[in-house]
Amino acid sequence: MLVPLLIHPPVSKPCEPPAGIAKLGGALKHHGMEFRVWDANLEGLLNFLTYPPPSLDTWTSRAFRHLPDHLHLLRSWEGYENQDHYGRAIHDLNRLLERTARLRLVHLSLTNYEHETLSPVRSRDLLWAAEHFEENPFYPHFRKRLTELLEKDPPSLIGLSLNYLSQALCTFAMIGFLKREWPHLPLVLGGGLVTSWMKKPHWQNPFKGLVDDCVAGPGEEALLSLMGVREVEGLPYTPNYDSFPLKDYLAPGFILPYSASSGCYWNRCSFCPERAEGNPYLSIPIDEVLRHLLRLVERHQPVLIHFLDNAIHPSLLKAICKDPPGAPWYGFVRITRHLTDPDFCLALKRSGCVMLKLGLESGDQTVLDDLRKGIDLKEASSALRNLKKAGIATYVYLLFGTPSEDLTRARKTLDFVVNQHDCIDFLNLAIFNMPTHGPEACQMEANPFYEGDLSLYTCFRHPGGWSRSSVRRFLDREFKKHPAVAPILRRDPPVFTSNHAPLFNMKVSGLPRSIHD
Ligand code: SF4
Repeated sequence: MLVPLLIHPPVSKPCEPPAGIAKLGGALKHHGMEFRVWDANLEGLLNFLTYPPPSLDTWTSRAFRHLPDHLHLLRSWEGYENQDHYGRAIHDLNRLLERTARLRLVHLSLTNYEHETLSPVRSRDLLWAAEHFEENPFYPHFRKRLTELLEKDPPSLIGLSLNYLSQALCTFAMIGFLKREWPHLPLVLGGGLVTSWMKKPHWQNPFKGLVDDCVAGPGEEALLSLMGVREVEGLPYTPNYDSFPLKDYLAPGFILPYSASSGCYWNRCSFCPERAEGNPYLSIPIDEVLRHLLRLVERHQPVLIHFLDNAIHPSLLKAICKDPPGAPWYGFVRITRHLTDPDFCLALKRSGCVMLKLGLESGDQTVLDDLRKGIDLKEASSALRNLKKAGIATYVYLLFGTPSEDLTRARKTLDFVVNQHDCIDFLNLAIFNMPTHGPEACQMEANPFYEGDLSLYTCFRHPGGWSRSSVRRFLDREFKKHPAVAPILRRDPPVFTSNHAPLFNMKVSGLPRSIHD
């Protein structure tokens, strides 16, 4: 029987299972096919933590001694009751990873993998990583586990899901090892990052000969076709989480990732990578979403549902209010008029909503209009107040250094945040990157941002001279230091940020942590 092995390579946040592989598994299961999954990220990081670090200074030895306690803490509700204890556990785990990987010139953390000389956006560096796979700090573990997995029950193909830059060098190291040991085993590479690469104009696959197929976009159809399924009904398949080690993730229970759509229903913001890539908006019919969630919640009793949509559609929000999924949930929404209705916000809260992520970007109306965000600042203030009153935490995303921003306008964003500071629970501050292949990039004077043929962003000369260094100075010296802003920033869970933030709010809001409590 044809049985594929689906792998999620290191490194990404190990707090929930990978949704992409779960979707592929759901499609295979629907067609009666067997499959195996391996979360090499979770397993690799946990294994790595058990190596005694090479140099045991006071901090590192204390961190190593407390490793079992820290893991236990992050897997229980206790970990999310005290920010200091939580922060210490996270920093200690990072210390252990950092110390051990440093020997291989890698800066490793629970969320990142950076090599001192190799770049994940240079294809020649990825090819080097494949050729010199023994150099990868995860090699001893993946050699052992892949050998066990492949010798015991040889798969018909291997699918690797590459979504983040922090996974790229490890993914290619695994590919290099697989290619040397099992040269005839088909290797298929997919995932969000691969999709973005393949959507670059003039894309030419630099990995031919190493990888048999690269797949852009949702991979269900491509995988089914490789598995010999000719008639694909195009159904939205229920993701399958049965084979993941759900108790091992760094969370107090199973966080269920779920996407009701891909692309974005708004699809108008300038400089949006989704728009630049021309990704279509594809959504699962609402009835089907509710059925999926019901089934998954019943089966796994998650402590939290994580909606992965770029923006949850308002009609889905309304449907969830009427027919709650049965577990607390959070996700990204656009700031729309719906949120200016206090009753709607209360209904969201009753449906289990514990946190909303809001892409506000700027507190200056001209900047918002230039970005085509479709956000009205008066409505944004009202939405934030209503959500606060309803007891829903807000995670507000701000973007500085956009082409129409300058210092005066950035200060207006600061004023907006200061005025709303009591309604903002968490803040994410980002500096603008210009997508290389968006329509706007051609209108600006651009230079490659990262030195790499696979780079997705480009550096540009800001028309008003509001350079990245000026933005950084403003953020460090003025924005972050403001007495109304600094406490919000301190509240952000280190490393896991928005992935763990709702867990803290579940305590604050007094909501049942799971419907089963
Ligand atoms: S709402 Fe977000 S995903 Fe949608 S177009 Fe705007 S930036 Fe892109």
